[in-house]
Amino acid sequence: MIERTIVVLGTGGTIAGEAATASDNVGYRAAQRGVAQLLHGVPAVAGLRMASEQVAQIDSKDMDFAVWVPLALRCAHWLARDDVAGIVVTHGTDTMEETAFFLQAVLAPRKPVVLTGAMRPATSLAADGPQNIADALAVAATPGAQGVCVAFAGTLHGAFEVAKVHGYRMDPFASIDAGPIARIEEGQVRSLRPWPAGTSLRAAADLPPPDRWPRVEIVASHAGADGAVVRALLAHGVDGLVVAATGNGTLHHALQAALLQAQAQGVAVRRASRCLEGRVLPAADDQLPHAQGLSPVKARIALLLELMR
Ligand code: ASP
Repeated sequence: MIERTIVVLGTGGTIAGEAATASDNVGYRAAQRGVAQLLHGVPAVAGLRMASEQVAQIDSKDMDFAVWVPLALRCAHWLARDDVAGIVVTHGTDTMEETAFFLQAVLAPRKPVVLTGAMRPATSLAADGPQNIADALAVAATPGAQGVCVAFAGTLHGAFEVAKVHGYRMDPFASIDAGPIARIEEGQVRSLRPWPAGTSLRAAADLPPPDRWPRVEIVASHAGADGAVVRALLAHGVDGLVVAATGNGTLHHALQAALLQAQAQGVAVRRASRCLEGRVLPAADDQLPHAQGLSPVKARIALLLELMR
């Protein structure tokens, strides 16, 4: 019988952060400890072999295509192995929802890929990293689990719905509009709804090198939005624009005029909503397509993948 393995890929974040004192939860440096060190003291899952690999070592506010491409390729590599039951990715919380959506979109894995991190550095009196890793391992070891998800503070969120909604709380994530996939309690995964499924928008192996990705920017509709940012981007050169629209995809008329001009010039434009919950519902006279219920940052990733040649 093949021994089952869980692979833990490290990318940095607060979970790997260090501060000068145990009481300092804000003045720390993220991405200081290696992934092997993060696993010290985290109980192994019975009957499973563990392997780890450092893919990057960054504060996830600085996440970039140059990390996403190798991360997706390493995930694809490990997922293809029969002995690998699942993957855990340690990651900063700032862009975790973007990386989760990106990995789901390029892997659509039939095995679990579980992102986790921490809101307190490893040196903190209240370090939450070890328990979050233990919970993520429990999910990765769960028979039948699949898809990319985020295990955090005892809750499991799907890649499509997960969003960071708080900058300090120990449970900063919410499953917008859908509710969590599961709770993780004492090493047990209590399922609440089906695992994420779907097909990939583009295979990881087909991703262009990081310096050849299209340019897709996010602009916002707000009081006084006059479209100057859109005109500046057109002058600079841009392939796609996601607009964080108000309410049900509505736009300041001046911004809308600039976006229609961009669309007429061949720039792909998508309307996402600034509202945290709900989705843009289409109307018969829409002149700009909506973003299929994705948040602005996730709509940008979907458009990046769509525009790749
Ligand atoms: N700035 C940190 C990061 O995203 C925040 C965290 O991990 O909680 O890497």
